[in-house]
Amino acid sequence: MVLSTSRRSTVYSRRVPLSIREHVPLAPLSTLGIGGPARFFARAEGADDLAAAVDWASSRRCPLFVLGGGSNLVIADGGWAGLVVHMAIRGIEIEERPEAVDVAAGSGEPWDAFVGLAVARGWAGLECLSGIPGLVGATPIQNVGAYGQEVADTILAVDAVDLESGEPLTFEARDCAFGYRASRFKSRDQGRYAITKVRYRLRPNAAPAVRYPELKRALEEGGVAEPSLDHVRRTVIAVRRRKSMVIDADDPFSRSVGSFFMNPVVASAVADAAEAELRRRGHLGADEGMPRYPAGPDSVKVPAAWLIEHSGLTRGLRRGAVGLSPHHALAIVNYGGASAAEVVAFAREIRDRVRDRSGLTLVPEPVFVGLAFD
Ligand code: NAP
Repeated sequence: MVLSTSRRSTVYSRRVPLSIREHVPLAPLSTLGIGGPARFFARAEGADDLAAAVDWASSRRCPLFVLGGGSNLVIADGGWAGLVVHMAIRGIEIEERPEAVDVAAGSGEPWDAFVGLAVARGWAGLECLSGIPGLVGATPIQNVGAYGQEVADTILAVDAVDLESGEPLTFEARDCAFGYRASRFKSRDQGRYAITKVRYRLRPNAAPAVRYPELKRALEEGGVAEPSLDHVRRTVIAVRRRKSMVIDADDPFSRSVGSFFMNPVVASAVADAAEAELRRRGHLGADEGMPRYPAGPDSVKVPAAWLIEHSGLTRGLRRGAVGLSPHHALAIVNYGGASAAEVVAFAREIRDRVRDRSGLTLVPEPVFVGLAFD
């Protein structure tokens, strides 16, 4: 981690000319451990490297894919026939004032180390987002959130490079169209920009966010009455670790992309119909209700993991080398030697089963590289 506390230091400086490698295996760069090679591969250490990569790829009419921490990717068994640009833009700039701290992080900074830095310095705003794999640059794309906090709460602006023109540009938070696990970078502008830097506004000496009952309970069980930012960070990591949602070479169930499906947000009437259908089919007891959380006017969010487990599928279910994690129904695990084709077939089976039993359609969360999920 490269720290800078000067007011206007620059994170981006081109150190080496863009170097292109060929036939680089991608499986080791994904947490699922699946996928063939990149035909061409380059590292971007600055926005100018990205611009050079855009030039290189467009002059050869070669498709370009931007790779971050690889924690949310299903890469095709055949790999990627174009250029993969691995984001390695580092550097953190800090601007401290009594009432707020503005921190700008290069998109290639490891996310959890960045959260650890904020917590260690006593800056509130990211503590519940501890233990999440991946890099800083991925966080605005799906507005990463957990335990009642999301990055849209603290993001001020996002710097990016336009992958069509190679030009750098800045999006203010209000222009990012942030929503529940959503942003313009994941919807209308999907694949259009590579994020190079994210600016967050954090709160010095502020109390941690403890909103989720699960987090409150875990803190109480630890005997913590007035938790510090550090208590919250350690507790969130412990809770995630119990679910195998912390990447750990010693935990075979963490060889996954984390949650494979998003939690559906639907109109209340649609949720009512799904609940009635599950009851009619005997998946719900007479006194049991479907969990749902308010998600905007007349909309509710339904936990995808609950839907899977109430459609007759159980944690630990296996199909050859792939299966559901025994610790979380939303994680599809590569139990060793699985192919992308097996993962996709298994994910379709789950989606179809849930749709058949409840009428709700689960939408995958990961990005599919070189293959489609339909
Ligand atoms: P969980 O805690 O079992 O919760 C499942 C679902 O129920 C989530 O949609 C969660 O909403 C919702 N929920 C639970 N308690 C709630 C409450 N008190 N108020 C409102 N909504 C509530 O989920 P999990 O799969 O183990 O994940 C733990 C946390 O990590 C969740 O917050 C989840 O969203 C987050 N996560 C985020 C990502 C991502 O950003 N891509 C990936 C994996 C997990 P929320 O989704 O709004 O929290």
